[in-house]
Amino acid sequence: MTDAQRTLSDHRIARIQKFVLQDRYPRSLGRNARLGHHGSGGSYQVRLLTTDKSARGWGMSHGDDREVERFIGWKVSDLWDPQEGTRPEAYLLDIPVHDLVGHILDVPVFTLFGSKGPNRLPIYSGAIYFDDLDPEDNPGGIKRILSCCQQDYEAGYRAFKLKIGRGFRWMSKEEGLKRDIDVTLAVRERFPDCRILVDANDGYTLEDAVRYLTAVADCDLFWLEEPFPENRDDLLRLKEAMARLGCKTLIADGESRSDQSDKWWRYGAYSQKHIDNLYRLAEEKLVDVFVLDLGIVGFSNWRLIMPELERAGVKASPHTWAWIPRPFYVAQLAAGVGNVVIVEGIPGTTEGVDYSAYRFTQGLLTVPDLPGFGLKLAERDG
Ligand SMILES: [Mg+2]
Repeated sequence: MTDAQRTLSDHRIARIQKFVLQDRYPRSLGRNARLGHHGSGGSYQVRLLTTDKSARGWGMSHGDDREVERFIGWKVSDLWDPQEGTRPEAYLLDIPVHDLVGHILDVPVFTLFGSKGPNRLPIYSGAIYFDDLDPEDNPGGIKRILSCCQQDYEAGYRAFKLKIGRGFRWMSKEEGLKRDIDVTLAVRERFPDCRILVDANDGYTLEDAVRYLTAVADCDLFWLEEPFPENRDDLLRLKEAMARLGCKTLIADGESRSDQSDKWWRYGAYSQKHIDNLYRLAEEKLVDVFVLDLGIVGFSNWRLIMPELERAGVKASPHTWAWIPRPFYVAQLAAGVGNVVIVEGIPGTTEGVDYSAYRFTQGLLTVPDLPGFGLKLAERDG
């Protein structure tokens, strides 16, 4: 037994409390290619763990109380392993357990993971939706998108992910593609110092994607995410077209899934078929960045699979939308295991949570040298 395990074995879980938190985005957010308005911020459940020695750790944690109550009385050393992270059966407590272990051992989460990555990380605003189409009775147009970008620029962002694919549901195909192009050109012109990422939420065809990339060839796009449901033939033709254009934009894919695994495994709730397909595409260099979801894979799992991504020559950027604490969890993962190309940021605040230990300037998020995730939850009854 290591010293760390011995220290953790001195603590037993004495109390598990649950709270619901509410996020506030800086503005009400519009639609994307597939979904309607994204609103002003969601609510979600967190759990606060307290040990018999009064150590505490908290974090997002879904699921029913009956599924976690059985861990009361467990030694923390039986919930968490230095190499594997949180025990698979306790995956609902994965985030709070990491925060708790960090507090007991007095180290940041990224230290638990080996500090293999940088602790200053590029981060993008994932909050640039189809706000040009709102309000529906008097749409604000492209200048509204520019003001959304400006608001996030003033908050510290130097990278924006523009949603594209307006022609999938909300505009005619031609008008939608033209607006996607015009928005991209306008943001590039107004923010020459910023990275631009785009995300079609699988709302393009191969032909749309090629026409779009051809029209914005001078925009130096950082990545194109989910142009269409990932498949070898279309991605191969897309990459061939990109090569002809001299386009170095990365292809990011893998977030959305058409099925799910019936058992929790090292890729969480993604199916083996989905994961095998992604790796086949990566092997042919048709996908450059995996944007598998943070929670669907699971926090401990992300740490375990990152070497597999590295061996396959792909980068990661775990999908975080739509809950504001999640980019901070990803930042710790990135500083701990590396190979995260950029963090998906979610602008805004959470009632009762203090994020200020994370310094955020010039588009870089600095992970603090504080125990656990370094996020403070206001004292509350519960
Ligand atoms: Mg996406």
